[in-house]
Amino acid sequence: MATALKTKTRMPNPTQTLKSYFGFDRFRPGQQQVIECLLMGKSAAAVFPTGAGKSLCYQLPALMLDGLTVVVSPLIALMKDQIDALTRRGISAARLDSTLSADEYRAVSGQIHDGSLRLLYVAPERFQNERFRQVIGQTRVSLFAVDEAHCISEWGHNFRPDYLKLVDFARGLNAERLLALTATATPQVLDDICRAFEIDTACAIRNSSYRPNLTLLTSPMTADSRDAALIERLKHRPAGPTIVYVTLQRTAEEIARQLGAAGFYARAYHAGMADDERSSAQEWFMQSDAGIVVATIAFGMGIDKSNIRYVYHYNLPKSLENYSQEIGRAGRDDQPATCETLVCADDLDQLENFILGDTPSLRAIETLLDEVFSQGRTFDVSFYDLSGKSDIRLLVVRTLLTYLELDGYLAGGTPFYATYKFKPLESSGQILAQFEGERREFLEQLFRQAKRGKTWLQLDAGAAAASLNAPRDRIVRALDYLADRGWIELEVAGVRNRYERLREPADRDALARDLHGRMLAREKQELARIQQVVDFTALATCQVNALCLHFGEERPQPCGHCTHCLEPGTKRVAPRRAKAALDPKLLARVEALRRQYPQIDDPVVWARLLCGITSPALSRAKLTSDPLFGACPQQDFAELRAQFETRGA
Ligand code: ADP
Ligand code: MG
Repeated sequence: MATALKTKTRMPNPTQTLKSYFGFDRFRPGQQQVIECLLMGKSAAAVFPTGAGKSLCYQLPALMLDGLTVVVSPLIALMKDQIDALTRRGISAARLDSTLSADEYRAVSGQIHDGSLRLLYVAPERFQNERFRQVIGQTRVSLFAVDEAHCISEWGHNFRPDYLKLVDFARGLNAERLLALTATATPQVLDDICRAFEIDTACAIRNSSYRPNLTLLTSPMTADSRDAALIERLKHRPAGPTIVYVTLQRTAEEIARQLGAAGFYARAYHAGMADDERSSAQEWFMQSDAGIVVATIAFGMGIDKSNIRYVYHYNLPKSLENYSQEIGRAGRDDQPATCETLVCADDLDQLENFILGDTPSLRAIETLLDEVFSQGRTFDVSFYDLSGKSDIRLLVVRTLLTYLELDGYLAGGTPFYATYKFKPLESSGQILAQFEGERREFLEQLFRQAKRGKTWLQLDAGAAAASLNAPRDRIVRALDYLADRGWIELEVAGVRNRYERLREPADRDALARDLHGRMLAREKQELARIQQVVDFTALATCQVNALCLHFGEERPQPCGHCTHCLEPGTKRVAPRRAKAALDPKLLARVEALRRQYPQIDDPVVWARLLCGITSPALSRAKLTSDPLFGACPQQDFAELRAQFETRGA
């Protein structure tokens, strides 16, 4: 069907296009409304559960509108799959990212210019790149689609401030209409999305998240009975494709091993595995009809398996949004499926510590601001260095710098690679023999700047530029050229981010306090999200209805297929930990350690140590393997933090 349609014909009718390009007879719920809004020239939002067919909402209009459709998605692996699928259907789609060779990049830019490309997929980071903004800036963008659009909202479960910049980029491109897509948005989040994207309420289409075929069970238990409980469930329920979600990579390995020992077909899946191992586990699971995959939440993003019969939460999910997405992978074939959460109070510490460890101390933020505002008007920094200097986690450094951009202190430029590694594939004599005159001399000197390793040479492009008195660009182009010719193999490392300072804060301390306040507010909100999950597991009313209500949908009748409805008599209480009092002997040991490590002068770091929360400074000092690390996990970190902060340095 599709091969006959390779030529660029514009179909006037969405249903025809659906049939001829995608081979589908009818729209799924919501698709047509969204597409109609877009075809009328309006921006729209699609809040459909995972697997409901959001992508079609931009893929189909992309074929019907003049101009380019830009799709922003943070998941590169998913982009690749979609582009392959579209290409097979004879639809011209491509992505632009840092993994493309110069030739590929040129080819895609060419297709953008001559209008032959229908869909262009990019990651949000791409908009930092000035060359990309230039390429795309000269093009008519008829549709700008943003996947995972809940990231735009501070109320969302995965707020990413760089998403706020996306809307500005879309405006800068004069994109004719915007489409926001997400699987989970509370009413508050959808409001934020609609405000940012200027979407009329009539074009914000939300599909019901109610799933009649899913039985939702929540079972409180102690951590030491959990493994046996899981095995017992697996033994007694009829076999079927199963996902067991865990929080940590090592738990995934451990549980997969235990299940294997108990005679089940089980494999681990997490982001720490090599790519080929991971895809082999995924392929195995896709084909299997009784396989168990024990996975961190990295699993399932691209999974299109309709007959998953069980989703177990071995560890508590970190929000109701996550929970809803994870159970949403079960029973896509509309056949009955069971989702059970094994609720252990001990999980709370771990989940909370992730959040608490993300909140930088006031002092850390002050250090970061001092670093940033002591630079020249234009400067470049490595987030990694900033993270080490300020003792703030990498992702949080990124967030804080984005805040500074959004507040008009900084303007970000194209990131670049500081260090180049290359391996000569010909002798340097042979390479130089290809050149003469000034160019040859330049290359000769350039080679001399490189530090020799065993097989690779390393070149700091900035330093080489300074010592050769040549523009950095020329050095990079020369290396690119040699690599293009196949004379060297080239690798890049050490991303540096470029900024221009637009204004100085009038009061740097006040700015630090303001940023710190924002980080604390986020912390509070994330902690509340975990509490919502805990409360959900112990609800004295229909759980399914509560979950639907969380996403803005009221259901009049109890569902009849959640723990509450199935076992109405049993009283369940939310797990709570007893908070311990702090042992003065431990405090004395911390004091001793502080004297030993005077370079760690931020009191909050020592509170972290006791609660077992990592930070760049603790890892660097190897204190994460000290016996005091995590010595009192039962402590209330917020309290301890306050205590240490007031006791001061
Ligand atoms: P989402 O992004 O909402 O998670 P996808 O866009 O990846 O979902 O679609 C999931 C699957 O549904 C894909 O295999 C897609 O081809 C299929 N699909 C989408 N729309 C339709 C339709 N109208 N009829 C049949 N299948 C469809
Ligand atoms: Mg999708």
